Amino acid sequence: MAKWVYTFGDGKAEGASRMRDLLGGKGANLAEMANLGLPVPPGFTITTEVCSFFYANGKNYPVELKAQVEAALLHVAKLTGRGFGDQKTPLLVSVRSGARASMPGMMDTVLNLGLNDVTVEALAKNANDRRFAYDSYRRFIQMYSDVVLGVEHHLFEEILEQFKESKGLLLDTELSADDWQVMIRAYKAKVEQVRGAAFPQDPHEQLWGAIGAVFGSWMNQRAVTYRRLNDIPESWGTAVSVQAMVFGNMGETSATGVAFTRNPSTGAKELYGEFLINAQGEDVVAGIRTPQNITEAARLEAGSDKPSMEMALPAVFAEFVRVTDMLEKHYCDMQDMEFTVERGKLWMLQTRGGKRTAKAALRMAVDMANEGLISREDAVVRIDPASLDQLLHPRLDPAAERKIVATGLPASPGAACGEIVFSSDEAEQWQHAGRKVILVRIETSPEDIHGMHAAQGILTTRGGMTSHAAVVARGMGKPCVSGAGTIRVDYEKGTMSVAGKVFKAGDTITIDGSLGQVIEGTVPMLQPELSGDFAIIMEWADAVRRMGVRANAETEADARMARKFGAEGIGLCRTEHMFFEGDRIVAVREMILADDEAGRRAALAKLLPIQRGDFAALFEVMAGLPVTIRLLDPPLHEFLPHTETEIAEVAAAMNVPAKRLARRAAELHEFNPMLGFRGCRLAIAFPEIAQMQARAIFEGAVEAKKKTGVTPLPEIMVPLIVTKVELDLIKADIDAMAAAVAAETGETIVYTVGTMIELPRACLQADQIAATAEFFSFGTNDLTQTCLGISRDDAGSFLGAYEARGILPTDPFVSIDQVGVGELVEIGIARGRKVRPDIKLGICGEHGGDPASIAFFEKVGLTYISCSPFRVPIARLSAAQAALGRKAAGQA
Ligand code: ADP
Ligand code: MG
Ligand code: MG
Repeated sequence: MAKWVYTFGDGKAEGASRMRDLLGGKGANLAEMANLGLPVPPGFTITTEVCSFFYANGKNYPVELKAQVEAALLHVAKLTGRGFGDQKTPLLVSVRSGARASMPGMMDTVLNLGLNDVTVEALAKNANDRRFAYDSYRRFIQMYSDVVLGVEHHLFEEILEQFKESKGLLLDTELSADDWQVMIRAYKAKVEQVRGAAFPQDPHEQLWGAIGAVFGSWMNQRAVTYRRLNDIPESWGTAVSVQAMVFGNMGETSATGVAFTRNPSTGAKELYGEFLINAQGEDVVAGIRTPQNITEAARLEAGSDKPSMEMALPAVFAEFVRVTDMLEKHYCDMQDMEFTVERGKLWMLQTRGGKRTAKAALRMAVDMANEGLISREDAVVRIDPASLDQLLHPRLDPAAERKIVATGLPASPGAACGEIVFSSDEAEQWQHAGRKVILVRIETSPEDIHGMHAAQGILTTRGGMTSHAAVVARGMGKPCVSGAGTIRVDYEKGTMSVAGKVFKAGDTITIDGSLGQVIEGTVPMLQPELSGDFAIIMEWADAVRRMGVRANAETEADARMARKFGAEGIGLCRTEHMFFEGDRIVAVREMILADDEAGRRAALAKLLPIQRGDFAALFEVMAGLPVTIRLLDPPLHEFLPHTETEIAEVAAAMNVPAKRLARRAAELHEFNPMLGFRGCRLAIAFPEIAQMQARAIFEGAVEAKKKTGVTPLPEIMVPLIVTKVELDLIKADIDAMAAAVAAETGETIVYTVGTMIELPRACLQADQIAATAEFFSFGTNDLTQTCLGISRDDAGSFLGAYEARGILPTDPFVSIDQVGVGELVEIGIARGRKVRPDIKLGICGEHGGDPASIAFFEKVGLTYISCSPFRVPIARLSAAQAALGRKAAGQA
């Protein structure tokens, strides 16, 4: 016969904490605590399988359930010496919901179930306390009616408030037994009026009503939404725990509270929590009365004049400390616990792994490893890599006041404060003048790169999480709020207006890119903390990780930042990002718009010294670490002049009529630039571009070597290869240039030439390509676009619908599509290795900083991953966890 019900209590339980899937988190841990011999009120848990059965069978229960619940009730009755529905010594219970993962959207707990007009009198007599009994009954009527019968909470609150007012009372504790009796009558009348039926008096009817309400709540809107937001499958279902009541509202030696074994915000090893004397569970969270501190130390720190539990109930406190220590040692983790004291006796009602801030998580992991509670590897596994984001950016002081004027998308985390500027040129000029600016644009384009670089943060009024502004800002590690649609930007007037306020260029605002907030004025900030526990965890992570971690960086500042965050080289230097800055763009435009090779060479000659300087600076910062430089990649149209002024400017520099230039620009227009004239196709059509870049790399390397004495390690990467022949042609040019520079300078630079693998055909042709390529770097952004046929810039309009309907589990530009794009990567690796077994394999692109993707890259055996500087610590930790995960699974 199927088993649907598991009992616990009296030092024994049928369940255990490992049965969380079946019993829910709450039920499994109640069983575990009972098995540990801790004081847990006896009870039983109806399994999550009943929930699944309930929904699969038209909201009916398995036939055996009723008998099993009856038997379990008898078991609890025996352990407590009471009887459910008994008129002399009634057993009262709580009915509690509990899924595998804790779920705030679920049904509220019902306490004191089993009370009615008769049993309440017995309770009063047995406890020798009428006030307590009536207080419990009125609580029950209110909770049960609200949660099970749908008679809203506030209807009862209003009755109570009116009553208190009429009698001149302020606090619930001032009501007498007789007062509560009046309330009970009024509450019952209210229920009857709203429902058209009396409040149920039969305890069994009450119980089944509550059980049905828990299962029913699995599908309520709150729960459905919560599951969707937190990726909790509907199939899990919830369990129901029914447990004998213990009473914290039995006078001055009774209490109820919640506590953590360590401080959840700082991580400090100190018991931390709150409790209330003479109260029931919901009072602590409801905020009706101000709770008291558990320890005396916390009370002193808070400067509270209400006694701590340590002072008020010293014996119970001592017992509680013993229990909490035991629980933390048993679970090897910080516990979040709920408890009740009934007339001086401690009862444990819940324990679970406690939620904590990122900072606290680091501190606890390091402390616990040092205490010997967990291993260093456990400590590394404990930290959620994504949570590090909170620590790596400056953030607003949580205690400071915020005058929020608008809210957009949290496009790139961190906070920034500065003067408003509406153009990228202005942003750059102001920054040069030593001012801090926030770049405010309707949307950004590649031409805003220099402005974004100069700004502290970026605010756009249009565009989503994968808009240009969002992607570039994340790459730069700059805070960004995108799509703040209520803000109107007027470039002509140089104003932005929102909520009836007008801001001018030069006015100060603050943005919180972690929350998407736009705030008026300056808000005090906290700087990231990279030493201490953070550094220790990183060190432990580095000790176990296999893959290398590099950064995507093109500027000296980014490269410095990358090293500070522990990058072991540059995995992607996008040379085109260097082309937008300052007046270089004019020379770049000259090069593109030149009619012939001679014209191009003239423009390239202007760019050469600039690029050489860029590369020399990067090599210097990276001091002997590998630097992967990608040759010019993007579609040329990104560089084309758009406005008349821009065209005039370039025409003047080239000494050609503006008309002719405008015509040439129109000729270069493409219908689908991402699949157009870009990548290695530029180097094939105009070899002099790649030649100039190769010269700049080698001369820059010689320069850096002369200056620092350290030999640079350039890795030259050719983008968008689909066939070996392309790479052969370009590599020949690079090699020739290396020889030329060596001959001219007398310095030989060791370098490698490899390719981006970012088109499906390149994956299939990887064996051919590997004959020439000395390394592969998987460009998973373009590979995703071309494998799925989805343009990243246009995906916003439909990807949401795909995700909502579960067609794609996640945004494939955030987390790699393992079965599609991932298989292409695997094919590329296998074929590449066949020809060149020791080929260096890397990945660059947004996926390099995504923990789930990193686990995949570990599995397929990449040599290194590369991501934006700010994600380097996240990548280091994720790579370590991925390596440990494989070790644990016996695969490494
Ligand atoms: P939640 O999931 O919202 O925390 P719980 O089921 O844990 O709901 O119940 C909330 C509170 O109700 C508990 O912290 C405890 O104080 C009280 N409670 C639950 N069951 C009992 C019980 N059997 N005896 C006394 N108090 C209880
Ligand atoms: Mg709880
Ligand atoms: Mg690409």
